Amino acid sequence: MSRYHLRCILCGATYQPDDVDYVCPRHGDDGILDVVYDYERLAAETDPRSLPGDAMWRYRGLLPVQREAPLPPLRIGCTPLVHATALQADARVAALWVKDETHQPTGSLKDRASAVAVVKAAERSAEVVTTASTGNAAAALAGVAASVGQATVIFVPVTAPQAKVAQLLAYGARVLLVDGTYDDAVELCLSAGRRFGWYNRTTGYNPYMSEGKKTVAYEIAEQLGWQAPDVVVVPVGDGCIIGAVHKGFTDLVELGWIDTVPRLIGVQATGSSYLADAWSRGEDVATKPAIAASTVADSIAAGLPRDRLKAMRAVRATDGAFVSVSDDEILAAIPTVAAKSGIFLEPAAAAAWAGLITARDEKFVDPGERVVMLATGSGLKDVAAAMRAVADAGVHPTTVTPDLDSVEEALAEPEGLEEAPWSVRHALGAAAARDDSAHAPTGETPFSTPSPIGDAR
Ligand SMILES: *Cc1c(COP(=O)(O)O)cnc(C)c1O
Ligand SMILES: [Zn+2]
Repeated sequence: MSRYHLRCILCGATYQPDDVDYVCPRHGDDGILDVVYDYERLAAETDPRSLPGDAMWRYRGLLPVQREAPLPPLRIGCTPLVHATALQADARVAALWVKDETHQPTGSLKDRASAVAVVKAAERSAEVVTTASTGNAAAALAGVAASVGQATVIFVPVTAPQAKVAQLLAYGARVLLVDGTYDDAVELCLSAGRRFGWYNRTTGYNPYMSEGKKTVAYEIAEQLGWQAPDVVVVPVGDGCIIGAVHKGFTDLVELGWIDTVPRLIGVQATGSSYLADAWSRGEDVATKPAIAASTVADSIAAGLPRDRLKAMRAVRATDGAFVSVSDDEILAAIPTVAAKSGIFLEPAAAAAWAGLITARDEKFVDPGERVVMLATGSGLKDVAAAMRAVADAGVHPTTVTPDLDSVEEALAEPEGLEEAPWSVRHALGAAAARDDSAHAPTGETPFSTPSPIGDAR
């Protein structure tokens, strides 16, 4: 008997893992499955105070992989939870932490799901693993697969940012650039997987991807001393991550390791706001047709979010909200977050910051609350967008000739991000007048200082 079974999100039919690989046979590609555990048994078997190792596999007992399955050697998960005091002051909330997924081996949160995909593919002795992706899921799959010598075929839209395509090619994936949208790439990949018998990682189709991604919620709770924050802000494209964050916190409540599930705030781009629109208009996402998606934040561009049912459930069940933010706000968030926290984000990840500000202005977040923002992907993933963002913010480098006069002349000019209190102009001004106020946390830190994961023993 398996430790878990699968349950259709639409009809509630249950299946043993050996009987179904992806979706509910009665509902086709819409019949997304939940992975359901015997929580009483898991709680009896697992002690949250003695989890092993410093990677996501410390939660192996709560993951749908065989006990003895060999694991990829890359260190995936257990990323830092950074107490971002300057951003916290700007957001005017009691506490703000950034869950920094830029530390993942391929630079995004998607590594968590791809790690599970590669283990499941090995369990099934699959010769090829395939996925459709806007770029990060593909890079994650290609990277983790490379670490174990697994062949991959990748479908990405021809518009995917160059860095992501470069990763794919360097990792040795067979890359198919689809002359169409991400949604076209998904349909093509599902058909190709069926035709050629490949193991398919595609989000919102493979039920185990949410299971990999849910480990980010486990870590947040563990890093806060097995407590949930009040709010988690999540950028949303297909909706897999936000559904997985919900699943992770719900698992922990079922296990009795935390008391409550945080409210989840989903952030979409105004040019790709299927879920935000459906939420504010009360539309049924089981029947709402696709929209035309277009945003600078390629990782959250999805005309028909594949995991829309789980995403909507996550927000409704936690009394959360969806907000949408413009491309200009997303781009502006890149230098703001970078300059005020040291964390450099790709557009989709920076959208979380713009979304937090919007959610606070719309009163979905209270000043007294403790907030975690998911920093889902690295700024190095899309350097073109970052350069656009700093140019829009008026930040520019100055070319100097190799002499001090030229340096002095250059320093006399405005440098751009003037509001940063640690800017060179401030530092060169009266040192005595130095204003450190933006560094100071407002209010008390509600939990003990997060300890690095792995120290728990
Ligand atoms: C995939 C991704 C998202 C959105 O996740 P969904 O599951 O598609 O909602 C957000 N940010 C980054 C960096 C991503 O790669
Ligand atoms: Zn069904």
